[in-house]
Amino acid sequence: MSNTDFVLAVEDLTVSFDGFKAVDNLTMYIDKNELRVVIGPNGAGKTTVLDLICGKTRSTSGSIKFKNHELTKLSEHEIVRAGVGRKFQTPSIYENLTVYQNLEVSYPKGRGVFGSLFFKKTREVEDRVRHIAEEILLQDALDMEAALLSHGQKQWLEIGMLLMQDPELLMLDEPVAGMSAKERDQTADLLNRICKNRSVIVIEHDMEFVKKIAHKVTVLHQGKILAEGAMDKVQANEKVIEVYLGH
Ligand code: ADP
Ligand code: MG
Repeated sequence: MSNTDFVLAVEDLTVSFDGFKAVDNLTMYIDKNELRVVIGPNGAGKTTVLDLICGKTRSTSGSIKFKNHELTKLSEHEIVRAGVGRKFQTPSIYENLTVYQNLEVSYPKGRGVFGSLFFKKTREVEDRVRHIAEEILLQDALDMEAALLSHGQKQWLEIGMLLMQDPELLMLDEPVAGMSAKERDQTADLLNRICKNRSVIVIEHDMEFVKKIAHKVTVLHQGKILAEGAMDKVQANEKVIEVYLGH
């Protein structure tokens, strides 16, 4: 395909592990400011799709274009620098640093036109840390050691650490697993806010949560797309009910 307005264009993407196709000829397009949710049974290939996009796993064939740049040949590091952030299922924060420090160390190095003017740089980082802390509801916990945060707050902190890099595409794997009902609602609000400035892909099983955030839903099954579209249409789809929602 030639140039597109899609932030992400995944085309004919396949990865085969010893002959087993975990992702099988997948084609999927994500719009600017879209919040897409990917659902599907365990083993469907959801996490593998994120692994392929962020460069953790190499594709066997196919293409992944981010703002019309091919990602399949780039390293994980280069993909992050291109503007793709990815959160894994278990939070990877620095437990013995404060919330403030966790956010501060996540600020991209060598960025900004004032790089050489130390005080301006410091001010820029501090402003950004405070802004992000509000976004992730941790503005009153900046001096707290991360180890003391609740499980939900740790998940938010990790999202905040990714937001420090201001990614244009943010990918989250089961972000509300283990969260309380209240934290789930707050996370839904948080994601609805942050997708105003970026595209977001979320993998999730909690259908109440999915309903609150999804612009569109992609249902994966055996590495292929079983259904895709608005939540109500996908929920009413016979095949989707049979392989996933009915269980
Ligand atoms: P999901 O996230 O939808 O539950 P995964 O993407 O984790 O599914 O896994 C899809 C399938 O691919 C599973 O059968 C899994 O065992 C297999 N798989 C994933 N990663 C690898 C790997 N690195 N090597 C071999 N098999 C893998
Ligand atoms: Mg998974």
